[in-house]
Amino acid sequence: MDPLIIQCAVTGSADPDPQRRPNLPVAPEAIIDESVRAWRAGATLLHLHAREDDGTPTQGRDAFARLVDGIRAAGCDAVLNLSCGTAGGRAERDDRLAPLELRPEMASFDAGTINFGERIFEGDLPFLRRMAEAFRRSGVRPELECFDTGHVGLALQLQREGLLSAGPLVVQFVLGVPGTGVPATVRQVEHLRGLVPGDTRWFVAAAGAAQLPMTAYCILAGGHVRTGLEDNLSYRRGERATNAQLVERVVRLAAELERPVADAAQTRALLGLGGGAG
Ligand code: ZN
Repeated sequence: MDPLIIQCAVTGSADPDPQRRPNLPVAPEAIIDESVRAWRAGATLLHLHAREDDGTPTQGRDAFARLVDGIRAAGCDAVLNLSCGTAGGRAERDDRLAPLELRPEMASFDAGTINFGERIFEGDLPFLRRMAEAFRRSGVRPELECFDTGHVGLALQLQREGLLSAGPLVVQFVLGVPGTGVPATVRQVEHLRGLVPGDTRWFVAAAGAAQLPMTAYCILAGGHVRTGLEDNLSYRRGERATNAQLVERVVRLAAELERPVADAAQTRALLGLGGGAG
């Protein structure tokens, strides 16, 4: 079985809310600090959303550049996976793609439309094709975020149309998100991963309390793990977590289950990346 890639989704794009989410890093310096701590704990892939000084989510290029520069200045060699989402509904379509200008090694590629919270997350096929071209032009590896079965089908269609970079697909099954109507269950993941080619590098992002059992399942089933406060704020019921604590627990689980954890070089090889630290 391949070494386990541990990805940490450090902050997400939820609105700042010190009462409900006191442990979520929202200031840029706090996001940088938590990212570096998560890397030191064993995460070799960091999924980042950018925020203004007051914690407001943004897709602005400069806000992402600040995070990248701060994380690299700390000596962190993790692969950086920048969000091309909507910054909590603040960016639409092509405006979502500004982080690609920084030519990160990887960025998230939401593979279709879905209900999301109280909103619609838009991803019609013409936009998906345009987004795929933008990723290819920028040399950025897409992490195909699939929230449901149809997203997997659309990702495979883009691959058939020659719009995705060569090499194994990198797929994130994003499950149990409120408002999507899709459960985070083993049965759901078994169905979804049966649809992708055998060499696909697949992860599961499971919301809330499903994160821990899905982590254990992914370690055993040959997938890779996404943890972090974007998806789950708690270490256990009634106890807030830090990103590093969540990563440390994955490292311990992997050791117990005898699955080696990938270092940065192995992570780049598994993800089909060139080996730079951009
Ligand atoms: Zn995200």
